[in-house]
Amino acid sequence: MAEPFSLYLHIPFCTAKCGYCDFNSYAGTEHLIPSYSDALVKEAQLWRKTMAGRSVTTVFFGGGTPSLVPLDEVTTMMEGLRETFDILPEAEISLEANPGSLDETYLRGLLELGFNRLSIGVQSFHDEELQSLDRVHTAAEAGEAFQAARSAGFRNVSIDLIFGLPEQEMASWQESVEAALALEPDHISLYALTVEQGTPLARDVARGRTPSPNPDAQADQYEWTEERLATAKFEHYEISNWSKPGYRCEHNLTYWRCGEYLGLGAGAHSYLDGVRFAVAALPSKYLELVDESWQSLQAGGEMKMRQVVSGEPITPELAMSDTLVLGLRVNDGVSLARFQEQFGVDALERFAEELGEPFEAGLVEEVEGNLRLTKRGRLLGNEVFARLLPD
Ligand code: SF4
Repeated sequence: MAEPFSLYLHIPFCTAKCGYCDFNSYAGTEHLIPSYSDALVKEAQLWRKTMAGRSVTTVFFGGGTPSLVPLDEVTTMMEGLRETFDILPEAEISLEANPGSLDETYLRGLLELGFNRLSIGVQSFHDEELQSLDRVHTAAEAGEAFQAARSAGFRNVSIDLIFGLPEQEMASWQESVEAALALEPDHISLYALTVEQGTPLARDVARGRTPSPNPDAQADQYEWTEERLATAKFEHYEISNWSKPGYRCEHNLTYWRCGEYLGLGAGAHSYLDGVRFAVAALPSKYLELVDESWQSLQAGGEMKMRQVVSGEPITPELAMSDTLVLGLRVNDGVSLARFQEQFGVDALERFAEELGEPFEAGLVEEVEGNLRLTKRGRLLGNEVFARLLPD
């Protein structure tokens, strides 16, 4: 049977750009939403033949702020996707949402369209922290958005929080975690604030207007949270992700297991048939290029994918390294038997040099045939990953 795949849709629109954000997202471009929705459907149809006979196990609308897209346009996209691809009836279908752009009517509409998972970007339950991050919502709106999702009927709701803000006290972070737990989400994602080059935050840090996030404080907050979420019966299944049993994010697991995915929309990435490739990032450019590909298809010409602007074949070396780097993010780790079966080499022998120091430093361990990060290794994962990446 042909291998199933995951579908990612990138929605690059945001109400305002947050100071720390280096995602492919744009404020003030909402007027493009109707043409963008049409282009996504056309782009999907450009892939119809290539993906024929393969089923879709997960669909993820990420961004940007997908919940900014009015229901009519979400309907256009979902109907277009269902007409084009074989989306399994049990598929996980997620949408990323920001508080402030959600009400119950909208949420009920999403459920009717088949969405069964909502990921809410709360980030903090303190208004002054939200302001320091340039978030456009308040803590109260975050709680209301969560309750609206439950009232509408969403059974699988995730909350995102950011920790390690400059000068954030442990007590303040703990209050945000407790406020999140009080809502009883099914899944929690926690990200350390990082200073990404080219962002307003990076400029503020460089000019001394904002202190850098403190890595020791971040480590303390992370360790406290691991304990707290374990007490609250959450499974820590990936470096940044916790879930109630049965609520892991299947879509993201596709990435960490090196499964295949097709990304549609401006700046989306794909991994198919041993090639990783990316679509033009700028929405206006994306619209132009999809239209060119579409016109060519309509004219009966050769199939073109003008919107795909870069690609890289994944060599066996890169595939091995990806399998370890992505697989180690998951707490279960990488099955050494499966690695041997897939690549015909023993991972511990092949990467003996790269893994030597991480083993000695207690950052990785072998448990029941799986190579995985230790508790300490989860804090210092990047040091392990950097060694495993090809030169
Ligand atoms: S809402 Fe999310 S994607 Fe949009 S600017 Fe803020 S962090 Fe970036």
